[in-house]
Amino acid sequence: MMMTGIHQLSAQNDPVVDKIINTGNTDNHTMDYIDILTNRIGGRLVGSNAYDNAVQWCASKFEEWGLDVWVQEAGEVPVGFNRGPWFGRMLGGDGMTLHFATPSYTVGTKGVQRGHVLKEPLTQAEFDNMKESLKGAWVLIGGKNNGYPIDWTEVGDSIRNAAIAQNNEINRKNREAMMHNRSLAEMSEKDRKKKGLEEKEILPLKYEPAMFYRQMVDAGILGIIQASDVPIRALYDRKNVGKMTFDSLPAVPDIKLDEQQYAVIEKMVERREYFQLEFDIRNHFRMGPVKFHNVIGVIRGSEYPDEYVLAGGHLDAYDVATGGVDCASGIAPVMEAARLIAEAGGKPKRSILFCLWAAEEFGLLGSKHFVQSGTVDMEKISNYFNRDYTPFLSAGVTVPEAMYEDFVSVSEPLKDAHPEFTFTVEKRQGPARPKPTSASGSDHAYFAMEGVPTIGFNLKDPKGYNFSYDEIWHTELDTYNKSIPEYQEHTATCTAVILYGLANLDHILSRDGLYAE
Ligand SMILES: [Zn+2]
Repeated sequence: MMMTGIHQLSAQNDPVVDKIINTGNTDNHTMDYIDILTNRIGGRLVGSNAYDNAVQWCASKFEEWGLDVWVQEAGEVPVGFNRGPWFGRMLGGDGMTLHFATPSYTVGTKGVQRGHVLKEPLTQAEFDNMKESLKGAWVLIGGKNNGYPIDWTEVGDSIRNAAIAQNNEINRKNREAMMHNRSLAEMSEKDRKKKGLEEKEILPLKYEPAMFYRQMVDAGILGIIQASDVPIRALYDRKNVGKMTFDSLPAVPDIKLDEQQYAVIEKMVERREYFQLEFDIRNHFRMGPVKFHNVIGVIRGSEYPDEYVLAGGHLDAYDVATGGVDCASGIAPVMEAARLIAEAGGKPKRSILFCLWAAEEFGLLGSKHFVQSGTVDMEKISNYFNRDYTPFLSAGVTVPEAMYEDFVSVSEPLKDAHPEFTFTVEKRQGPARPKPTSASGSDHAYFAMEGVPTIGFNLKDPKGYNFSYDEIWHTELDTYNKSIPEYQEHTATCTAVILYGLANLDHILSRDGLYAE
């Protein structure tokens, strides 16, 4: 702490920092990376060719800037998935163009498929009654899209079959109850009291979406259709992606349709109007196993190469859109920070790692692997800065007392680095929270569980861009244009200055008071 004054002076006068800020303000490439990641490469789903392309491209950029590059195998999926385009329309009715999505790792159509539409059967009697007409039909199922497909495996079948069996029993009891109640209705109040008879309750039936899934598939349906909020959220087949094989893929498309269109179609079905729906969904699979990799750019420290400052985001993204905010908005400033430091000729004392993680969306798998495989000594990490699902400005930090002076010192040059934005360091108020014991949220989680500081930047929207996190989170709207260029660009500059400053201190950040004892 006594060295603070000296650090401030040296930071202000450091020509490398001046150059970082100058280039950050005048020749910032952050949005170019977002453009390439989202528009040239596209949705970067784990197991897709696009993900592999992104790994290759990011590694090539780090290399171009003179960094060491670690391409670290972090895991594999048994089969891969590449989403193609999708189309759908109504034939008859008002001929509407259908607005829908399908979750990743679900199948597409067999070319262009047209068929009539039915509402799903809810009881065995209903199924038996419509068995023949299910062949070649699109089936409207109940429930609301939560982004995941219906579980098409035996596990899913057994849950649904248990509900069907319970309903058979409930139906039997309800029939008895109805007969009983009818006979009561014919009695006088006095007689009823005398015999001590009361009305029996009619029990509600159990429901699982696509109750007769297996039976419907066997009967020859074309696919199932569920109503969805808009924007449409589409995730992946989380339950089964780890055990799918190329020869045992799901059988029929699992379509999540705009709820307004669903309501119109449902009403037309109830009125038994004649129309068809046509879908062409190109969901393609890759022979597996498909390995996935972290990409880590390294500027090696000149004095303490085995001590580290880290920043990262996740390179994978859902493919229903193009991962514009989640997480190109995290990846791009981290990459640009690497370029700004490298091109300013930065030779930091300790190593700086620029971490682009694999498979965050599938359960933080890339960062978990990095931490648990002992890639670097967790005790020697000064801080890991994570950036995920935000286009906002990194405008400061809130830190424990023991880190305060260091952050004030290294952020000094950012106070007036930009005509509109500043950077503030605040002391954390209130007691420290306990060290987390389970992983959630984003790629900082496994670091935090090891006691590594994961101070993140405070995010601000000083201009007021009306951004909605919920609107983009794993939805069809998470595209390039959701990023906010001026915030993204200055975030890169701030990240570079802070990383470089921390890497040049004569100590790693204190962990005193970081977590409650
Ligand atoms: Zn994310």
